[in-house]
Amino acid sequence: MRQLRPLVAPLAVLLALAVPGTAAAGSYTIRWGDTLSGIASRFGTTVRALAEANGLADPNRVLAGRSLSIPGKASTPRATTSKPATAVTPPTSVHVVAAGENLTGIAARAGTTVQNLLKLNNLKSADHLVVGQKLTVPGGGPPMPCPVAGFHTAVDGFGSPRPGGMKHEGDDIFAPRGVPVIANANGVMSHIQGAVTGNGYYLRADDGTVYYGAHLNDYVAAPGRVSVGTVIGHVGNTGDAAVTPTHLHFEIKPGGGAPVDPWPVVSRIC
Ligand SMILES: [Zn+2]
Repeated sequence: MRQLRPLVAPLAVLLALAVPGTAAAGSYTIRWGDTLSGIASRFGTTVRALAEANGLADPNRVLAGRSLSIPGKASTPRATTSKPATAVTPPTSVHVVAAGENLTGIAARAGTTVQNLLKLNNLKSADHLVVGQKLTVPGGGPPMPCPVAGFHTAVDGFGSPRPGGMKHEGDDIFAPRGVPVIANANGVMSHIQGAVTGNGYYLRADDGTVYYGAHLNDYVAAPGRVSVGTVIGHVGNTGDAAVTPTHLHFEIKPGGGAPVDPWPVVSRIC
């Protein structure tokens, strides 16, 4: 029976915290992709009021998972009932193959790899899709966050020419210096430094996809195992980005191979 004791005490603390909370203003838990201005307009308030109510020094740095007090919403009982219930998504969903679709496109839109789809569906080859076929695609869990966790502008730039006959192999996500660069997937992160990359990183996600980021101002996380949201470093313009505005150069290498056009994913998550 002794082991019950540690359970009882925290429960009492939770209840004690919950009861006086009725007098507080409404609250909202920040999710990936939220901006303060978006939250403000959703709740009919202003960025300034939100920042003041929550002691936020930098409105561009909103952290997912953090709970915000929503000023002026305590007296509107509908604030709680009219909010849509939190969507409960299954860990996977079903995609019905349409005419003209291939596994590469389906994988890109689902934010996964062809290999992963083959495995999920016990398929031997990517060449035998039939219109109407039902595929299991990863669709559950938290959505993949943008690797730049703050104010940013992503630009579709894959394949554009670069000096020396090279082509741009990723997309650039522009953001002010110091905005956090986070792990967009669970996996193993390593640092890579060079004249072109500056401060860069590889993140080998658990599904085998390798994400590459470059030009960080500095590192935060040490190389090794990271999970979604781990702050890897901050946006900067190291390496050959020294003459450009600060940004994260971001590539996606399915299975660790050649980089693919990351825009289908970047445009969805950033
Ligand atoms: Zn770039």
